[in-house]
Amino acid sequence: MSGILCAIKLREAGFDDFAIYEKADRLGGTWRENSYPGLACDVPSHLYSYSFAPNPEWSHRFSPGPEILAYFEDVARRYGVDERVQYGKEVTRCAFANGRWSIEMADGTADEADVVLAATGVLHHPAMPDLEGLDTFEGAAFHSARWDHDAPVVGKRVGIVGTGSSAIQIVSALAGQVAELTLFQRTPQWVMPVENPAYSEAEKAEFRTRPEAIEGVREAVSRAFIDGFANVLGDADSPVLQAIHDACVANLEGSVADPILREKLRPSYRAACKRLILSPDFYDALQRPGVQLVSEGIERVEKSGVRTRDGQLHELDVLVLATGFRVDQFVRPIEVVGRSGALLDEAWQHGPFAYMAMSVPDLPNFFLLNGPNSPVGNFSLIDVAERQLGYILQLVEQVGSGACRELCASPEAMARFDAERREAARRTIWNTGCKSWYLDEDGLPTAWPWSFDRFIEAMSEPRLEDYDLR
Ligand code: NAP
Repeated sequence: MSGILCAIKLREAGFDDFAIYEKADRLGGTWRENSYPGLACDVPSHLYSYSFAPNPEWSHRFSPGPEILAYFEDVARRYGVDERVQYGKEVTRCAFANGRWSIEMADGTADEADVVLAATGVLHHPAMPDLEGLDTFEGAAFHSARWDHDAPVVGKRVGIVGTGSSAIQIVSALAGQVAELTLFQRTPQWVMPVENPAYSEAEKAEFRTRPEAIEGVREAVSRAFIDGFANVLGDADSPVLQAIHDACVANLEGSVADPILREKLRPSYRAACKRLILSPDFYDALQRPGVQLVSEGIERVEKSGVRTRDGQLHELDVLVLATGFRVDQFVRPIEVVGRSGALLDEAWQHGPFAYMAMSVPDLPNFFLLNGPNSPVGNFSLIDVAERQLGYILQLVEQVGSGACRELCASPEAMARFDAERREAARRTIWNTGCKSWYLDEDGLPTAWPWSFDRFIEAMSEPRLEDYDLR
């Protein structure tokens, strides 16, 4: 998503001498890697689109994953990006020497560049659970982001580990399709009800003829999201967050009839502390015949299924590990070597960081999109990446115009940003007593801790005094 964006915007800004390296044989990032049943984006489609490439054809308010992948492929084709992608080029090393980056690939080839944009994604490397006996399971076992389409699920006994956004979408899609569905829950989730209507032919026709109608939807959704969610995450005491919590409680109370199931599903922490689940049908799916929620912990995996701590064996044909991602990687495992041999791995040994989520001291002319400390959590990462790239291009312009040859965040600006970010992180909703992938090894939220309006303002123009220009 952000690599395609970079190509389009670089060209628009007059930089046509660029290359895009893609390790796979197809573009699409998240939307290529994930292909699980029920895959969708819970950000409304007209917001989860590039601002410059509205799509009148979105089928639903929250459109399914294959449609999103087709959208990115279509945009890449229309903007002539696909022909600039070098497929099968896995970058293994970026090293800065004599004012330029040398870029090495796994296939032994190399390239050189003045500027590197790391559009390498966030939720990229599957986190495999450390479950005893997993390798002894005789059925099919795979991570949600590595769906095994050779393993049939229809009519089978399917177990799902995890209750994050991926698992919830899978449960909703598979309930009623499989013989038995068992959801292994370690931690319950708050679920915000949403409706997912299809766009009518009349609505799509209007979007086709009046692009301003799409812009109107986008504006309305964006403003509602910013005011009703994104601006208040940094203030755990906000009444808006309390209203979200109350809506989730009402959804649980009103949707789950069986009091035992209801209590198993009731989280002990506040809504939006973990990433909020948005679903029109998760609770319905859980109450279908053949679907069961198991909240006793997993003892181990055996050859015929999963044994829980109460001693019960849950026999399964397929085990889906919807257990999330290793979120501390970002551009890694690429080895990044900056000025005077500075290693990114060493700088990030206690966790990744970047000034304004984009620039790291001693890595000149190297910028991250959706990098560490970016806004995350129910956001349109397209919107985030577009704003970040607008900022980055202003920095690149400094190099392009000859105002300087190299620039990166100064250590002082980085230290100040980090101290302010840490302080603000304490007051966020993510720091109110739950465990989630937003937290670093010290238990502090890593995401942008201020309002989204502050992010928009910060991205409008770089403070050049915070950069080390040479
Ligand atoms: P996740 O939110 O990290 O959830 C992982 C789940 O696996 C959690 O319920 C976790 O339990 C459980 N788990 C992990 N290890 C386990 C173990 N050893 N035993 C039992 N349970 C275990 O992962 P995800 O659902 O893939 O979602 C990751 C992120 O992807 C989301 O937060 C979101 O940003 C993005 N996403 C977005 C969409 C969308 O529609 N926009 C859809 C899917 C994913 P605990 O809670 O107890 O740790």
